[in-house]
Amino acid sequence: MEKNVQLISLEKEQISRTLSHFTLEIVKANSDKEIFSLLADYLPLILPAERCSITLLTPDEKQLEIYALNGSDGALSIGKFLPLSNSFAGDSILQNKTLWHSNYKNSLKVDAQQLYSQNIKSIMNAPIKYEHSVIGTVNIGSFSENVYNSDSAELMSLVAKLVSSYLERQDLLVQAEKGVELYKSYSLELEELARVAQILSGAMNEKEVFSIITESVSKIVSAQRISYVVFNEETQLFDVQVILPKSIDDFSINFSLKSTALGKVYESKEAHFFEDFSAYNYIDIKMLEKIGFKSGWTSPVKINGKIVGLLNAASISIVEDGYKKLSVLNMLSGILGVTLSRVKLQGKIEHQAAYDELTGLPNRNQLNVFMEKAVAISQKTPFTVLFIDLDRFKTVNDTLGHAVGDLLLQQVTTRIQQQIRKGDFSARHGGDEFVVILSDCESIKISKKISQNIINSLKLPFFVGVHTIHIGASIGLSYYPSDSLEPEELLKYSDIAMYFAKQSGRNNVQLYSRHLSDAVKYNQKVDNLLRRAIGKNELHLVYQPLFLKNKVIGIEALLRWTNEELGIVPPDIFIPIAEESLLISDITEWVLQQSIGTIKKLRNLNPDFYVAVNVSVKDCLTPEKLQSNILTLLNEYELPGDSLEIELTESVFIEDLGPIETLFNNLKSEGVRFAIDDFGTGYSSLTYLLSLPFNTIKIDQSFIRQSDKVKLGVIKGIIDIAKSLSMECIAEGVETAEQKHHLEKLGCKRFQGYYFSYPLVIEELIVFLKNSINPN
Ligand code: C2E
Ligand code: CA
Ligand code: CA
Repeated sequence: MEKNVQLISLEKEQISRTLSHFTLEIVKANSDKEIFSLLADYLPLILPAERCSITLLTPDEKQLEIYALNGSDGALSIGKFLPLSNSFAGDSILQNKTLWHSNYKNSLKVDAQQLYSQNIKSIMNAPIKYEHSVIGTVNIGSFSENVYNSDSAELMSLVAKLVSSYLERQDLLVQAEKGVELYKSYSLELEELARVAQILSGAMNEKEVFSIITESVSKIVSAQRISYVVFNEETQLFDVQVILPKSIDDFSINFSLKSTALGKVYESKEAHFFEDFSAYNYIDIKMLEKIGFKSGWTSPVKINGKIVGLLNAASISIVEDGYKKLSVLNMLSGILGVTLSRVKLQGKIEHQAAYDELTGLPNRNQLNVFMEKAVAISQKTPFTVLFIDLDRFKTVNDTLGHAVGDLLLQQVTTRIQQQIRKGDFSARHGGDEFVVILSDCESIKISKKISQNIINSLKLPFFVGVHTIHIGASIGLSYYPSDSLEPEELLKYSDIAMYFAKQSGRNNVQLYSRHLSDAVKYNQKVDNLLRRAIGKNELHLVYQPLFLKNKVIGIEALLRWTNEELGIVPPDIFIPIAEESLLISDITEWVLQQSIGTIKKLRNLNPDFYVAVNVSVKDCLTPEKLQSNILTLLNEYELPGDSLEIELTESVFIEDLGPIETLFNNLKSEGVRFAIDDFGTGYSSLTYLLSLPFNTIKIDQSFIRQSDKVKLGVIKGIIDIAKSLSMECIAEGVETAEQKHHLEKLGCKRFQGYYFSYPLVIEELIVFLKNSINPN
């Protein structure tokens, strides 16, 4: 998931760069031909497009003429036509929308058939508009199937919009060129236009755009007041966005459509010159007149034919040939419109590159930028890095769906932000990971307190649609500058600390320390060596007999690992590490195979013997695999299901019970038995016990080892519960005759422990069993 996020933003960055090159180039284009040749060059860089073409409506508007996009030749008619009513391109025109399709062999659409014969499997068409009407389409096609989606449609629409705007502008330029012949004085203005267009192509934000435009307008039309207003659909009033020069006036009146020159131009959609203000009765003109202006121009700024604003210029003298300037102003507005849409697009793309779309939080890129800046400050102002990882989020996503998961993440974001101070920084690191930087914070007490507050707030139930969701979080902390001076390292350390927070149970906070890093290194080493352990025959099983009264009824298989380099590694160490990677699944498979082989042999001594095998909760996450492993082995050795007991710990209850229930039911119907291991140490609850039909409860050793009064009470309770649920109860870790005696008094009949037998290798076990069956 993280990788994807990064890939997408990388891709977007590249596309954004290509798009801005495209706009830069297209601004300079001097003819339709150049616009189309640029389109041919850039389209395949922006979107998957092995075929590019455009279509233009014929004058009768019934057909579309196809033009191939041919490099520097621009668009060349290929002498073919498409019916408007029966082509994908036509659909895009009729619906005035960018559409994408998979292309099948027997498509009824004419263009689809033509393209299918060229092996084109995906098609996308976007309308090209001129002022208000659609005049044709830009089309792309790809050899690959299903390559287009709503994201690519958005990009394609942008490209088509740019082309539309520039075709429109091109037309204006052509008009202007004609004008040049009529009015000699235009040549200067055209030069100015070309210059402005050039400068504007480098403008990065609206502010820059307006400062360039207003400067240019004042040059072209000798105006002393320039403004840009936008019509606000909601209030039905014009909002003044820019007035220059700033000091001039600021009548903060928002004019309406009625009785204003602005309204007139907005509604007529045509640029207008108001030669002599005294001749008009418009409210806005009257206001201008009052402060000394005599004539003026208003020109609509359009993006794709839609007016987005009005560019106004006013002069303190009556300009007699002001009409002549209208077309230049028009052109300038055209350029302004296109530039504004480009800048907006650029802003959007930049935002996408820096922010996470779902939560609106800064993304990982921004986090890096922020941390780099924070450590660049020379005084080493301390800060704390909180690495937050949600518990159980994956389960929510898997069981309730991504839409619910997304909404949940948004609510999580809000809760995290409620717990931190204004000056703190929060980011989405990816997936269900968040990072918070507590600025100016070195105090362990404060950062722990804030972390705990975050955890507490995330422990409360979330309400998403009809669902009530319980999650939680684990947080790791690292400190600047004490833990490291490097942002990357600080992040890594907080991540490591988070990992240990998670290990020590959920909803925990853990500070980073050196020994955590050492532990991680050791774990990685264990993981590496364990990967080769099965192949290198380094694993073996020992078996500990299980007793009913004084008789052996079965054995528990316990894993042992001896490695050349690490020596004897206890299962308590390596099993959790194997659970972290997917290694456990191979290990469990091996253990099952060995254990079932062993019990097959032992059944010759006593046909009722069974083997108890420890199965990790992680194995239950792939229940199909586990189930088929077990059933295949039982079948292979011709053993009944009750020769096997699966031992699971209480941590099954924190997983999604659905698949585990299925596993239970399927295996129980074959006679396989289930035991709940280490009972009393974890999530023990009566409700939980009722939810999965275990056969056996194994009372954890900790209760037996120090059997004080309280513990004895607990043991008695467990035994009674087991009895009432018709479960068997076995006491683990019985080391002394005294312990056995106490347990018996409480009603316990089944035992396991050093008092009865240590775990034994198979040869020892066979001797032990023979002796216990025929004691000499
Ligand atoms: P567990 O399932 O609770 O296994 C019982 C542990 O108690 C074993 O430790 C056993 O040697 C020890 N034990 C038995 N009787 C006594 C006693 O009287 N006193 C004391 N102090 N200890 C006793 P071991 O073999 O070190 O295994 C530790 C844990 O590692 C197991 O706890 C189990 O959770 C895990 N494990 C062992 N083998 C496997 C395996 O094949 N697969 C999986 N997933 N986990 C395993
Ligand atoms: Ca066990
Ligand atoms: Ca146990």
